[in-house]
Amino acid sequence: MAPLIALAACSRPQSPEVLIVTVDTLRADRLGYAGHAAARTPALDGLAGEGRAFLQATTPFPRTTPALASMLTGLWPHHHGSREVGQPMTSGTTLASVLSAAGWRTVGLSATPVAGPEQGLAAGFDAFEVMADARASEVVDRALLAVDAQPDRPLLMWVHVADPHFPYLPPDDGPLRPDAPRCRRLGEAAEGRRGKRDAIYADRDGRSSAALEDCRALYDAEVAAVDQAVGRLLAAWRERRGTDGWVVFTADHGENQGEDGLWYEHGPSLDDAAWRVPLVVVGPGVVPGTDEGVARLEDVAPTLLSALGLPPPAMDGVDLGPRLRGEPGGPSVALAESGSALHAGMSGYVVAGRRKRWCVHANPWSWCTDRGAHTLHDRRTDPDLRVDVAAAHPDVVAAMEAVALTWPPESARQRGARDDRFELVGRPRAEGGYAWTLTDRQGTPGEDVSARFPEEVERLRAALEGWGTPARAEEPDAATLEALRALGYVE
Ligand SMILES: [Zn+2]
Repeated sequence: MAPLIALAACSRPQSPEVLIVTVDTLRADRLGYAGHAAARTPALDGLAGEGRAFLQATTPFPRTTPALASMLTGLWPHHHGSREVGQPMTSGTTLASVLSAAGWRTVGLSATPVAGPEQGLAAGFDAFEVMADARASEVVDRALLAVDAQPDRPLLMWVHVADPHFPYLPPDDGPLRPDAPRCRRLGEAAEGRRGKRDAIYADRDGRSSAALEDCRALYDAEVAAVDQAVGRLLAAWRERRGTDGWVVFTADHGENQGEDGLWYEHGPSLDDAAWRVPLVVVGPGVVPGTDEGVARLEDVAPTLLSALGLPPPAMDGVDLGPRLRGEPGGPSVALAESGSALHAGMSGYVVAGRRKRWCVHANPWSWCTDRGAHTLHDRRTDPDLRVDVAAAHPDVVAAMEAVALTWPPESARQRGARDDRFELVGRPRAEGGYAWTLTDRQGTPGEDVSARFPEEVERLRAALEGWGTPARAEEPDAATLEALRALGYVE
């Protein structure tokens, strides 16, 4: 028997092995291969050079749980059921379930408890471990144990690391070690009272914007440390598992660093900063190069299943196979919805906060509910929302109540559609409906070109309307509209 066992242990599995590495909160534009001069990402740059790098890839939802559930199931958030961070999936078949049934050994490691068994993301994994708040290097150390295991069956391994999340605290012995005192102080403040996070994310006292340069340096240092750890994983994978399998590298979402008025946070905004994700695919038959077309996180599972010759379950994503070979094909439009603003003081959003404590914001007023008690604040004199002036402004209170009826907490989300040139984003308006902005990647960054390309606005809006997300955007009744108009909210 012994020689047979030895022979089995030495022979490599026939089916291709699959490694998926995801990095939480990793902006697509902060990698060396994407043109970021300050990046120190040699491992990921090398990987991009070996495979297909999708430079305009996107997430369908810029928060962890919905995004990763879409990557694993190939379904849109309103189809797998997770539409907020931590919210469990309610349907869908994961890539791991399909591969496990087809004979793969499936191993998952996640550095965040909002991407694990409690949300259904561990479905189909023979082994899954959540290493809450572990650094990428620790997660990789653990991953290497599975990489080194005897290859009795082909391996699917998913490794999710979470280092570049705010507060940015790169390791002291990492490849980049900036001082960055202003951002370090901001991070310390964020660790304190919950209200501080509102102030930081909204730049209420100007400290977030003043710390931008420092925060970018710390963020780059976090990403460099991730690259170093992922580099170790990739090297070990090739050595132990060979180079004829598939490697996918991507992120769940990016991070706003001032874009759309949001600082060091992601979720309620569909700015490119959080909407775009890096996506690199390496595997047999992949023609190395870059691709600027539409590619989506929900396309990862159908692409891998097609590459492995396994029939996919019903999925919203499509096979990027032709594009991996440098040919036309794949999706022509990417659709997304944002999360809601989870912190009550995010005054750049119409409604912010969660069920117990939330505010309606319409310049210059904030009408807040805290466990059922209502207050009104004038942000011109009370930016921290401490002084209740409701008694003096019953008309404003009435108008704000109307806004709250139009947009109940967690319903006000941005919606977006993009193709290989244009991006359309709708932002909820206090009076109902959305304010739409069209930008052209071939034109001036950030410039609204809706008036010049009305047919593109209509086309992308139609795509969003056909998406079928349960959005709430009714126009208010005539009396409410008149009250809002009197207060200057409606033109
Ligand atoms: Zn995340």
